[in-house]
Amino acid sequence: MKIAVLRESAPGETRVAATPETIRKFTALGAELAVESGAGEAASVTDADFETAGAAVGTRDKVLGGADIILCIDGPDPASLKGATEGALIVGALDPLRRRDAVEGYAKAGLQALAMEWMPRITRAQSMDVLSSQSNLAGYKAVVDAAAAYGRAFPMMMTAAGTISAARVFVMGVGVAGLQAIATARRLGAQVSATDVRSATREQIQSLGAKPIFVENVAGIEGEGAGGYATEMSEEYQKAQAELVSSHIAKQDIVVTTALIPGRPAPRLISDAQLATMRQGSVVVDLAADAGGNVEGCVAGESVVKHGVTVIGASNLARSLAADASALFARNLYNFLSALWDKDQGRPVLPDDDEIVKAIRLTQGGKVVSERLAGSGA
Ligand code: NAD
Repeated sequence: MKIAVLRESAPGETRVAATPETIRKFTALGAELAVESGAGEAASVTDADFETAGAAVGTRDKVLGGADIILCIDGPDPASLKGATEGALIVGALDPLRRRDAVEGYAKAGLQALAMEWMPRITRAQSMDVLSSQSNLAGYKAVVDAAAAYGRAFPMMMTAAGTISAARVFVMGVGVAGLQAIATARRLGAQVSATDVRSATREQIQSLGAKPIFVENVAGIEGEGAGGYATEMSEEYQKAQAELVSSHIAKQDIVVTTALIPGRPAPRLISDAQLATMRQGSVVVDLAADAGGNVEGCVAGESVVKHGVTVIGASNLARSLAADASALFARNLYNFLSALWDKDQGRPVLPDDDEIVKAIRLTQGGKVVSERLAGSGA
């Protein structure tokens, strides 16, 4: 069983799909590991580190030759994967809805593609969930970036020269990233409030020492929502939410938005007019920028100033914490493959009726087999 770890080729990608730790763990399962030279460079892992952990380091051709499993962060170009064994697994965040052509390419190349971001939200799969592991880091980094762009301090300080008041931080969308944003802002000494459409988050907000700000007159989503995900809200709810935001946002110094709805553009939560009511020097970080943005006028990957407010269109923030993001992503991959590892056969076995396999398998036997892709109309 040969496992190949690729050097990522997507522009701006810094992460690597294996670390010395996971190389050792896979080796302990009986696998042979090969890492493309330079794969860990941007994540502070050298070729020598991989070699010391027991991997062979070499060119892409060498690494892919006879590989049974290919590990990656972003899905590579199918044409760059020649040499792998027929039916080899390619495992990573393959972005199947936006990269449908690549999925077809994996099928044609005879590869079995597994999209880690479609991991079901069940207890058994929690340790395999790349969306959670990367969102958690993004939530932390959003607040650190906001603090860096903010011309004032976060904590209240009582000094001989007078008192500085605490920054007021508002987190919109309290999923994995939002919860970490709340915790990070609290650690930095800010006064934090937060909102979501799912009622289950109210208690989570309070347990982190922040104030819940909720639409009260129109019902939101009961409990966790379907699989922990939100859906698009009614017009009546959106109107009530806009009123709530208008009354709250003018008093905030920092806003972090993280609201996402799977398979749909991000909901618009802050209008240009609402931005204009914020104090000069305030900072808004939009973590939904890549999905169209929660904030009107936000530009993915850029920082723009509107009405004196800095609006940061945060794009793939986990990449800016390459070493930790890689360590967690690599563990997610190991946790997935090792959970399905058959010790006698010395390889992972993917049962057709397994809930995880059904959710994440995109291609098999030269065909696209994912029900979700079939239903996407893509
Ligand atoms: P997400 O990235 O899909 O969305 C971020 C947040 O935005 C969510 O809390 C969502 O409710 C909120 N949101 C959507 N529309 C909104 C709107 N109009 N206004 C305000 N907020 C809005 O969510 P996520 O971070 O992936 O996680 C959501 C939930 O799933 C969490 O409770 C998490 O604990 C749970 N989860 C469970 C597992 C598991 O069991 N394996 C894994 C990951 C996440």
